[in-house]
Amino acid sequence: MDLFEYQARDLFEKYGVPVLAGAVATTPDEAEAAARSMGGRVVVKAQVKVGGRGKAGGVKLAESAEDAREKAAAILGMDIKGHIVGKVMIAQAAPIAEEYYLAILLDRSNRTFLVMASVAGGMDIEQVAHETPEKLVKVSVNSNDGISQADAAKIISGAKFPGDIADQVTDALVLLWGLFVAEDATLVEVNPLVKTSDGRVIALDGKVTLDDNADFRHPDHEALVDASAANALEAAAKEKNLNYVKLDGEVGIIGNGAGLVMSTLDVVAYAGEKFGGVKPANFLDIGGGASAQVMADGLSIILGDKDVKSVFVNVFGGITACDAVANGIVQALEILGDKATKPIVVRLDGNNVLEGRRILDEAAHPLIQQLDTMDGAAARAAELAAK
Ligand code: GDP
Ligand code: MN
Repeated sequence: MDLFEYQARDLFEKYGVPVLAGAVATTPDEAEAAARSMGGRVVVKAQVKVGGRGKAGGVKLAESAEDAREKAAAILGMDIKGHIVGKVMIAQAAPIAEEYYLAILLDRSNRTFLVMASVAGGMDIEQVAHETPEKLVKVSVNSNDGISQADAAKIISGAKFPGDIADQVTDALVLLWGLFVAEDATLVEVNPLVKTSDGRVIALDGKVTLDDNADFRHPDHEALVDASAANALEAAAKEKNLNYVKLDGEVGIIGNGAGLVMSTLDVVAYAGEKFGGVKPANFLDIGGGASAQVMADGLSIILGDKDVKSVFVNVFGGITACDAVANGIVQALEILGDKATKPIVVRLDGNNVLEGRRILDEAAHPLIQQLDTMDGAAARAAELAAK
């Protein structure tokens, strides 16, 4: 889960990383009130989970509380790279002398963690990496050892941070590592980390990504979820412990096992080319235990998607045999009753396939069509979706 800047700021504060006062506002009134209580100049910042807000006009300096109100009114509702701004952060303004970059991330390809540090901050770090790679220092971190004060000092001096603020940046890096570990983050990025004209080091913009796989260790992370962005079907699926991702096509997909579902998406997209570009509508892995209830939950989620025109159930029987899956489908359709309205193409194979196919044949449900091969079934589902 990616956090908003104001959430990252709050985490920085919790772990002792120096930040300025900040408050979130959803209306110009709230923005004005927040600016008034802070006093002085403030920065009004669009809260969207996408970079380059500054360039897009989503970060504006305000001279007074009234000005903050006007700037907030202009920024709220703005479209930044497809993200509509619903909140702004009112942040105390900083007199900036220099802008730096500091990040800790999970480096999957090297199976380690990585610190990236640069004295060329504030701008797009990809651009720095591309145009002046010597200005971006990358140091891998052993997860068992972490980042000690001495490690951090070495990284910061290696990245040629000015001597007068090197100690403050070193402290910030150690604190960020503490946050990274304690919160199970996969990314903590500060851009810019600034030096103010009076020589203080402050994190002015933060980006934090939390590892969803560690959610069970962090009940408090639930409160950070952006409910306004959640897709209603994805939320319903999550509640039922289904692994569901909404896509933008027309063929609903149900399969068992992530690998099979992924290849089903490919096969359907390929078959769909012959039918005017029909595409998969979702990813849904019902896992190993395709019970009637799990199948009913899966089908009801997919049939609830108004974009879905046909459904393709592609199951390879393993530990859960095909006859159990077939019974699950039949019972699921009984549970759903009138709510099941779209054609369902089923392809069963694997453990006890003949009995599974027999059960579906015998049920002779008007919505169900059985095909023996994955390609044949994908083509039929695509054809039905195209009609
Ligand atoms: P981003 O464009 O989404 O990365 O947004 P940032 O929060 O990084 O802001 C972009 C730029 O706006 C920064 O690099 C600064 O140059 C400027 N900026 C942000 N906050 C302040 C501030 O408090 N004072 C001043 N003078 N400039 C700021
Ligand atoms: Mn930034």
